[in-house]
Amino acid sequence: MGELAPAKPKVMKNIVAGNWKSNKLMPEALELMNEVQAGLDSIQNTEVIIAPPSPYLAALAENKKGALAISAQQCSATGMGAHTGEHTAEMLKSTGAEWVIIGHSERRERFGESNEAVRSKLELALEAGLHVLLCCGESLSNRESGNHFDWVQSQLEDALQNVSDQAFDQVVIAYEPIWAIGTGKTASSDQAQEMHAFIRNWLSKRYGDVSAAACRILYGGSCKPSNADELFAQPDVNGGLIGGASLNAEDFLAIVRAAEAQD
Ligand code: PEP
Repeated sequence: MGELAPAKPKVMKNIVAGNWKSNKLMPEALELMNEVQAGLDSIQNTEVIIAPPSPYLAALAENKKGALAISAQQCSATGMGAHTGEHTAEMLKSTGAEWVIIGHSERRERFGESNEAVRSKLELALEAGLHVLLCCGESLSNRESGNHFDWVQSQLEDALQNVSDQAFDQVVIAYEPIWAIGTGKTASSDQAQEMHAFIRNWLSKRYGDVSAAACRILYGGSCKPSNADELFAQPDVNGGLIGGASLNAEDFLAIVRAAEAQD
């Protein structure tokens, strides 16, 4: 793995982002957001983001209070035009969303999102002024064959090939081993730290030590209140992208508090 870049300075806030996927009806989404907001009063050092389904973005953005930020779960690989059913990055931004998740493994695997599409979405999102949670992560077979570092590196190389140093400031990386997503199987804190350090080291070569140190790298994959502390305590883990556990305010807030408790 070569020499490792220094872990990020502690002035950077951790991030906890909840990916609600295709869950909740509109009133339930509002209720969940309100429950989450009610638990954030004492949270100072953690950025909290929720990613509800697209049809709810505008209403949630309008009703949110405080520092809670809203994210879309993906965006179109095209700009405005005759693309029936697609939501462009600019449209999402105009709802009040500030973030978008790009390259989630469910999009890649179930909806055939290629590396090229991920790259295009990422670039359009950055042009539209959205912050990006860029997902990467290996399958079980990749990990078992020892190919996981190469796999993740090639995903990042591909997605970020045209992203300038300046634009990269708007990017957060989410490392999500596919074998841990929604399976209840979590990467061990050592496995997470090892990959996060590898990613930071690669970022350091691509964008320099300062940008690499300042980039938040989130862990995703069956993160829950019982394992969040240990995962977030790793020097290169700067919070989490949370699926299942983000659908319950109590669990999600417990994960937020675990991030907040790190110095
Ligand atoms: C995800 O899908 O981004 C995720 C991390 O899901 P879960 O927490 O349910 O594994």
